[in-house]
Amino acid sequence: MASFDAWLPRAAALRPGAAALVTGDGEVTTYAELHVLARRAAAELAARGVVADDRVALALGPGVAFVAALHAVLGLGAAVVPIDLRLSAAEQAARAEGARLVIDDQTLTRAFAAPASPHAAGAAPASPPERDLLARFDADAVATVLHTSGTTAAPKPVRLTISNWQWNALGSALALGLDRDERWLCTLPLSHVGGLSILLRSAIYGTTVVLHERFDAARAAAALADAAQPVTLVSLVATTLQRVLDAGLADPPALRCALIGGGPLAPALAARAAAAGIAAAQTYGMTEACSQVTTSLPGEPQTAGRALAGTEVALTGEGEIVVRGETVERAALAADGWLHTGDLGALDDSGRLTVTGRKADTIVSGGENVAPQEVEAVLLAHPAVADAGVYGRPDPEWGEAVHAVVVVREPALEAELRAHVAAHLARFKVPKRVTFADELPRTVSGKLLRRELR
Ligand code: AMP
Ligand code: MG
Repeated sequence: MASFDAWLPRAAALRPGAAALVTGDGEVTTYAELHVLARRAAAELAARGVVADDRVALALGPGVAFVAALHAVLGLGAAVVPIDLRLSAAEQAARAEGARLVIDDQTLTRAFAAPASPHAAGAAPASPPERDLLARFDADAVATVLHTSGTTAAPKPVRLTISNWQWNALGSALALGLDRDERWLCTLPLSHVGGLSILLRSAIYGTTVVLHERFDAARAAAALADAAQPVTLVSLVATTLQRVLDAGLADPPALRCALIGGGPLAPALAARAAAAGIAAAQTYGMTEACSQVTTSLPGEPQTAGRALAGTEVALTGEGEIVVRGETVERAALAADGWLHTGDLGALDDSGRLTVTGRKADTIVSGGENVAPQEVEAVLLAHPAVADAGVYGRPDPEWGEAVHAVVVVREPALEAELRAHVAAHLARFKVPKRVTFADELPRTVSGKLLRRELR
């Protein structure tokens, strides 16, 4: 059976003194230190009965303990189930169902009682026991069980293997390039593929994650502007990109690319980022394909770019995006061998993908199909509009009528916004009504909950 060098032990052997992790308070954990913490966590988890092929739930916030526990679980040959701590207790329990153990912030207190670094100050208590992590991973072992965002259906569990992740890391590096001193800022939830993928890719590369507890626009902007601790990559969604720009970020000194995914990147926002010296790259991805499927080049955000190495993208006759390849969860493949994404798109001659919408969101108004994302992009180009959501409202005359809900940053009139859309798009795409709201319903990963607009 194919196998790979285990990620953390490899990085700790090759780059022991390199920073694995910088947390929000500026605390640095080197690969050697992280390895010690993970070895202690592994001993604790093994003592609690965790064995290979188990599922272990991680009910921890983003921090050193989360990352050490993650590598400990993998190092025992078990799979990680990260739990979104914002869910209700009942929802969290449902996510953890079938897990051997739920790790919360009490579980590893004993393992982490002594500092991991021999140079740390203070009288250290006797060192807790350690256990060797697996030196090699089975390629086909399940590494993570993650849940989809559940914007159109209930969130569903997705089982990704060591091999899926290994290929994602390779494909992403081949697309974006890789620097030995990469520092990737993560402000996304670690219970979602977007956040967790930053931790796993960086461990596979032996590079650094700058990990924030949660997204805070001012702190993210400050981290990106900090020349002393230069951040080279960041993953954002459109709304968080907008918020770091609103916080005044301009010309970040070391940022080579801001990866924008999880939903559409409106041309107006991409242009605003470019004007602020931020090389945005659009990425299209999903949980079932281990995050990125396609990625554009830094500074070329007009399309979602080309498929990563090892991954193939095609369109069905109806224009639905289908995906197959090394990063795709096997169980997600349909009988025809492809993952049917439910997303609509177009491919240009050089294989660059443009995501145009979602099948389930298409509005059929008077027999014409309207992609709400297209109307949203035009509304967002209006200077007064900070956020926009478009949906189809049942209508006796049209079947469905195009309606828009907007968040404005300065006063605007409904008639003015309708006229703005009419100046750019066909008449049947112009919202019959535009209403105003303080904010739009979005998931933790920034996705618009369009059904909640109705
Ligand atoms: P998730 O449920 O978190 O796995 O989200 C995956 C979904 O996010 C995809 O199926 C798309 O609907 C959406 N998505 C991701 N990236 C993009 C993008 N660049 N443009 C438009 N939609 C996107
Ligand atoms: Mg999905």
